[in-house]
Amino acid sequence: MNIFLDAHQDLAYNMLALGRDYRRSAFETRQREIDKPFMAWTDDALIGWPEYMQARVALVFSTLFAAPARSIAPEMRDSQIYDTPQEAHQLYKQQLMAYHRLSDESPDQFRLIRTQTELTQHLEKWANLDPSQTPQLPVGLIGLMEGAEGILSLDELPEWWELGIRIIGPAWRSNRYTGGSQEPGPLTQDGKALVDAMAEHGFVLDISHMDEEAALQAIDRYEGTIIASHANLAHLVEGYQGNRLLSMQQLDALLERDAIIGVVPCNNFLRRGWKETGGKASVSLRLAAEQIDAICQRAGNSKHVGLGTDFDGGIGLQSVPAEIDTIADLPKINTFLEEMGYTASQIEDINYRNFLNMIQSVLPA
Ligand SMILES: [Zn+2]
Repeated sequence: MNIFLDAHQDLAYNMLALGRDYRRSAFETRQREIDKPFMAWTDDALIGWPEYMQARVALVFSTLFAAPARSIAPEMRDSQIYDTPQEAHQLYKQQLMAYHRLSDESPDQFRLIRTQTELTQHLEKWANLDPSQTPQLPVGLIGLMEGAEGILSLDELPEWWELGIRIIGPAWRSNRYTGGSQEPGPLTQDGKALVDAMAEHGFVLDISHMDEEAALQAIDRYEGTIIASHANLAHLVEGYQGNRLLSMQQLDALLERDAIIGVVPCNNFLRRGWKETGGKASVSLRLAAEQIDAICQRAGNSKHVGLGTDFDGGIGLQSVPAEIDTIADLPKINTFLEEMGYTASQIEDINYRNFLNMIQSVLPA
């Protein structure tokens, strides 16, 4: 197969906060948003169903994501902002229902996937594509909760599972479970109880956004499957200071646990100061291929890396490498991997197979 699995996209956030309809082309969305006030702080859309088809994106780990009010400047606040865990819970539920509605109303374009049977049926549609034609097939969505603030009690886990969440990333900023991006701290007592309960229910743990200390604790403790859905290596981003990208210690701990890391082709995670020194035109997708290569070199194989684009996750057209106009351009990354000597089979590992095998192994029958 020659398809893509994208391990991180904040679709529901954009649907509810900005009114984006991903059944439309990204170009139509851009036209409709030209005069919208939020364009003062939001980039142009990268995603739409026609562009998914051009890139052959067959599967997406689609997130629930809302932000604590303290992390967002007052003039940039939208409807997906919370002050309390109860509010976070409401927003996350609404976003999950938005995926259910999309899947129910437009099953030829988007389909929520919760079981192995559904995944197998979905992949059958994507098998044996005619390479000379753009497919017209549904994109499979698998639920990923980014930030566990909305989990009010561990008793809720079976309900989130039932509704389709299969992956949980405890952190975005810090919360009562864990230290997070820009807000360091360990895994708390509540956090330890959360990850233990997640493992018991069979969720995948996504350590993206966890502070290094908390991530190392969670990786060490977790008995289930672990990923970093969207994270790059810190040491390749010259001058990077912060706790969002992965240290080598985190990478080694992830590799030891057979985890998969989704590399993010977004400029902020590829080169510091890109805005001031040349802008979008100065950042090449090659830097994302170098991130992939560094993970493969450390692992000694191509089995531990994939793509987690985070496209439209607060960044868009203006903040991704020069080669990317929409997600239809995602396959261009393979040109760089080929130049680096990757074989067709290794490129398939990276494009989809690693994350696909992982999710296949955790979905219920
Ligand atoms: Zn994120």
